[in-house]
Amino acid sequence: MTAPLLEVTDLTKRFGGFTALRGVALSVGEGERLGLIGPNGSGKTTLINCISGLLKAEEGQIHFDGRDISGQAAHRRTRLGIARSFQIPKPFAKMSVLENVRVPLEYAVAADQRADDPVAAAHDVLQLVGLDHKAGALAGTLNQIELRKLELTRALAAGPRLLISDEAMAGLSSAEVDEILALLFDVNERRIAIIMIEHIMRAVMGFCERIVVLDAGTIIADGTPTEIQNDAAVERAYLGD
Ligand code: ADP
Ligand code: MG
Repeated sequence: MTAPLLEVTDLTKRFGGFTALRGVALSVGEGERLGLIGPNGSGKTTLINCISGLLKAEEGQIHFDGRDISGQAAHRRTRLGIARSFQIPKPFAKMSVLENVRVPLEYAVAADQRADDPVAAAHDVLQLVGLDHKAGALAGTLNQIELRKLELTRALAAGPRLLISDEAMAGLSSAEVDEILALLFDVNERRIAIIMIEHIMRAVMGFCERIVVLDAGTIIADGTPTEIQNDAAVERAYLGD
């Protein structure tokens, strides 16, 4: 078996006296579609903040592409190929959609991999996401689904091998959820691994090959969608005892 793309081992993260993650282990294979679910407050965002480097864990290691990145700053991890979208998109509202995509294209990509023509490169990513017709619009004028797409575009502009999507579908209509799902399948076809954090179960079950369940900072299940749907501990975590 080849080494996983991402391997998290024994991760513990505390906020003061509160332990948000306790001994978490997680691996993601090259091009894999992994779901990360769990009740509100179970530690999903904290875990991806540790993976992307926004937070430092007190204990544990994170390996990406075979190298230990535990001590590396967030921007270095982005350049190595870890990109994430945020639960609440915060684009530069007074800049155009195109300019918003140019920022990560020029700053999040390693110098030797930067596109010769950043404007053309920005259009390319916007096209992949189906947002190119809005290239000239101010980001502040976008509607909800366009904002989610822009958030994903900004993450993709960094040229990731792993995309972490934190609740990109929350609050969208069923048709809009399908649109984002189709988009993420397209992204995955380019051999980009995806960690999907979502509360919309039909989206997670339909998209992911494997699902990991967090509850109160520990992983309580790791399996196929069918296994997770039939897991008693998962049911207890969601419904309470
Ligand atoms: P999820 O994304 O699964 O809803 P979070 O990772 O956001 O959960 O939060 C996990 C727990 O850690 C929650 O109890 C939350 O209140 C706490 N937490 C998250 N971030 C901080 C922080 N910066 N300081 C203190 N507690 C935090
Ligand atoms: Mg969260």
